[in-house]
Amino acid sequence: MDIAHLSDRILNADRRALARAITLVESARADHRVAADDLLSRLAASGRQSLRIGLSGTPGVGKSTFIEAFGMMLIAKGLRVAVLAVDPSSARSGGSILGDKTRMERLSRERSAFIRPSPSQSHLGGVARRTRDAVALCEAAGFDVVLIETVGVGQSETVVSELSDLFLLLLAPAGGDELQGVKRGIMEIADLILVNKADGDLKATATRTCADYAGALRLLRKRPQDPEGFPKALTVSALEEAGLEQSWEEIQALANWRRESGHWDRNRAAQAQYWFAEEVRQALLARLETPWARSRMAELSSAVADGRQTPQAAARDLLAGLGV
Ligand code: GDP
Repeated sequence: MDIAHLSDRILNADRRALARAITLVESARADHRVAADDLLSRLAASGRQSLRIGLSGTPGVGKSTFIEAFGMMLIAKGLRVAVLAVDPSSARSGGSILGDKTRMERLSRERSAFIRPSPSQSHLGGVARRTRDAVALCEAAGFDVVLIETVGVGQSETVVSELSDLFLLLLAPAGGDELQGVKRGIMEIADLILVNKADGDLKATATRTCADYAGALRLLRKRPQDPEGFPKALTVSALEEAGLEQSWEEIQALANWRRESGHWDRNRAAQAQYWFAEEVRQALLARLETPWARSRMAELSSAVADGRQTPQAAARDLLAGLGV
């Protein structure tokens, strides 16, 4: 494979080359990994940066509807938009919630858009690492905005926040004053909470829900990466395309503040360190996946069960055998 040529085509915003490169970084084949690393190193020199926006919400809250409407609005402003997904369900079941082709039909027909479903990998860590590479490829291809979507199922938000410059949480209007069981950890990583479906009969409920969340956000510890007034809660209607301009204005205001205050660069530097540590961890774990390591592990495991070896001594034996 001619990596130099592929790299040039990506820098020239060739979407087919981009799709091919993403397939390459998702491949587990050893020769593909080498080619992918070469490609990513070449492209890192481009220095291009997109605005990376993480977006999470439970199934049915309106993520695809929102991304389509929001993406179309950005394209109308002359921006190029990529949409990537981190879908832990594809890892578990082989079927992807975020990957089906009928989603975002209008957006997928736009020349300025690029949509890619979640890579299917055996675990969330693998999905996230490959998505990180895909984000880097989209940046090199000159996309202005990269939206990284995930289903709200806990852990995946944390991983997506390690890929994003800012994080949106999409919520549905809720009756009563229940905070929808949104976990505190997720509230803490949200920069903007968007209460969707603020239309028709749901409008009043959405307004009340939004006020509840605005109150809850004010109770959270102040974060250094926030200017006055953030994190913020807004109502939107993806269906009626209401509140999208305001959401974009808030996103830009926050992104500009973070760029000027240095938080943007600090966040990206910390993320690079996180992914470095993650690569090391994963490479060490991969050492355990060889046939030798598996059978040695089984032997030592029964020795531990019989009391012939202590867990510590058995672990040391195994690691010594791996040369770690
Ligand atoms: P996802 O699973 O989070 O991607 O949600 P979808 O975008 O597929 O939307 C789920 C359902 O909610 C669909 O029937 C949408 O038409 C509907 N929906 C999405 N956004 C809105 C909205 O702003 N208002 C209303 N009333 N319905 C919406």
